[in-house]
Amino acid sequence: ALEAEAVSAWFGDHKVLDRVSLTMPAQQVTALIGPSGCGKSTFLRILNRMHELVPSASLAGEVRLAGDDIYHPGVRVTDARRKIGMVFQKPNPFPAMSIYDNVLAGLKLTGTRAPRGVRDGLVEECLTRAGLWKEVRDRLRQPGGALSGGQQQRLCIARSLAVRPKVLLMDEPCSALDPTSTRRIEETITELAEAVTIVIVTHNMQQAARVSQRCAFFLAEQGTPGHIVEAGDTGQMFGAPVDPRTEDYVNGRF
Ligand code: ATP
Ligand code: MG
Repeated sequence: ALEAEAVSAWFGDHKVLDRVSLTMPAQQVTALIGPSGCGKSTFLRILNRMHELVPSASLAGEVRLAGDDIYHPGVRVTDARRKIGMVFQKPNPFPAMSIYDNVLAGLKLTGTRAPRGVRDGLVEECLTRAGLWKEVRDRLRQPGGALSGGQQQRLCIARSLAVRPKVLLMDEPCSALDPTSTRRIEETITELAEAVTIVIVTHNMQQAARVSQRCAFFLAEQGTPGHIVEAGDTGQMFGAPVDPRTEDYVNGRF
């Protein structure tokens, strides 16, 4: 499991998360939901140590992957980010780079090497797992930027998979995509979760209900830092929420 314990976060002296604790079980999909500005993206970036890239950012608390503290002084930040990949809202392949090289770029970014003999197989495997292989197998040398938005997002997923992450963090991965592409990504997420732990931020309640097994509702009330109001099984969160604020939010009354 990926576990956050009492995670608080600041930008300068502005506190944006307050003691967030959440267990994201291995090989399951956990959805993070909540209104704009409640700290979901910040929380996600803390989970793979991207938060510390912001000069004014600080944090407290602990994040453990399979029991190991990813912020332990002995852990290299590149190792943490290799184990915990990220896919963003706006598809961001390298547009001028070929589809083939885009997949391998994930390895280069994290300083991992793939011997020449395994590269073709790895590219095919990652594109297959991302649900894109059949569409691009005959055009691997074309630039990533020539793909549609939904294909570009699946290419970004393939690029993340090339480093064999244990966890894939996805920050509103479908919000720039049409409904058909969105469904394709959702199918991909469901298949990936057989091997990878997934944490997805979404504003789409139907999507959260479709893809996730666990759900956490974040809220930042009246200028207070973001915190988790309620977390649990997705079925229970949507069908029988405990907190009235959760019930209002999942039913679109916010
Ligand atoms: P959305 O649903 O709109 O994406 P969110 O839940 O992802 O919102 P965050 O982006 O995590 O929210 O922002 C949480 C709070 O942190 C906000 O008040 C935001 O203004 C602040 N914040 C986020 N990034 C920075 C930054 N780089 N510098 C300063 N403040 C930031
Ligand atoms: Mg966000």
